[in-house]
Amino acid sequence: MRFITIDKKNWAKGIGKSRETYRLFGPVKDKNGCLIKPLENDTLPDMTYPDTVMSAKSVLFPQTEKMLFTSLDESQKDHHIMKRTATDYTPRAVVGIRPYDAKAMELVKLNFDTVDYRDPYWCDAYDATTFIGLGINTPGPFDFSTSAGSGPFGEDGLDVLLADLDDTYLAKVLTDKGDAFIDACGFYTTADETESQMLLDILRKQAEKNIVSHMDTTRLKEKTILELYEAPFWEDISFSCINCGTCTFVCPTCWCFDIQDETKQNISDRIRNWDTCMSPLFTMHSTGHNPRGTKTQRVRQRFMHKLKYFLDKYDQGIMCVGCGRCVKSCPVNIDIREVCNIMNSYEKQD
Ligand code: SF4
Ligand code: SF4
Repeated sequence: MRFITIDKKNWAKGIGKSRETYRLFGPVKDKNGCLIKPLENDTLPDMTYPDTVMSAKSVLFPQTEKMLFTSLDESQKDHHIMKRTATDYTPRAVVGIRPYDAKAMELVKLNFDTVDYRDPYWCDAYDATTFIGLGINTPGPFDFSTSAGSGPFGEDGLDVLLADLDDTYLAKVLTDKGDAFIDACGFYTTADETESQMLLDILRKQAEKNIVSHMDTTRLKEKTILELYEAPFWEDISFSCINCGTCTFVCPTCWCFDIQDETKQNISDRIRNWDTCMSPLFTMHSTGHNPRGTKTQRVRQRFMHKLKYFLDKYDQGIMCVGCGRCVKSCPVNIDIREVCNIMNSYEKQD
């Protein structure tokens, strides 16, 4: 671990230099808000944005991804044999990702990179990616990351943490990947480790004090799955849900997908698309039976997965980093903080 001071006058030049090694992604203002996009040509990441509408999950888990392909042309020797689609896994860096979104990558990794199964698409993208985080000096009103195991200056999942100090960035280099990126930028001005860490701690404490939004997760672990699953509150919680799926698409930790084959002339592609557990089609069986056929069952599934099943299975906290996007985006104001507090304080009546 080391600290580097970056004069903002040298920022654009350094980022430009890193393009010799990396494909860059970062926050870019769009007519629909700020989004994480490829930084084409000389575009710089917008380091002043309050938050991005979508998280950075699509950098590792694209909304639509070709996985396999085959030729249906029977004159070809290997017709009908599925082969992996070529994808660019050269080094890439996400510059300006928020700490809670980087933490989300680590939670998703628990699902995509396991002892039993390794999703090669997600893992190869993860291995190729360096995450350069930007600490949040002024958290927004929906940010409850401190209640969700992250925080405005959290370091989990990051290779470098940047702190904005007006004229300079203070960079805390956390991993070898981070080292390589900082070197590729040509940022070499070392800062004193003790002083820099003290400064970061002050910024972190100030930022955390400004987080006014919280939820209580402390008692979730002691509840049994059945107790929460059978609790009477799900009907009320799900009443207004319109199953639009927005909460899952904007969520950095949601990973539901669907796989489809698409054929054009003699080439057939197997494609993975984002899907949502809030849609009745997601669990529809080919027999017509649907194990989560009602809205109440689907809403319960979403919250039980995030706040109970994941917690129990991995023992690494809840499957939420407190970014607040689902709260901000839900058209009917269903709020995970309220649901979590209801689950956390629920006492079964005998
Ligand atoms: S559940 Fe909501 S607040 Fe939590 S990480 Fe997902 S979008 Fe963010
Ligand atoms: S965003 Fe709100 S209305 Fe839409 S599926 Fe999620 S909880 Fe339901």
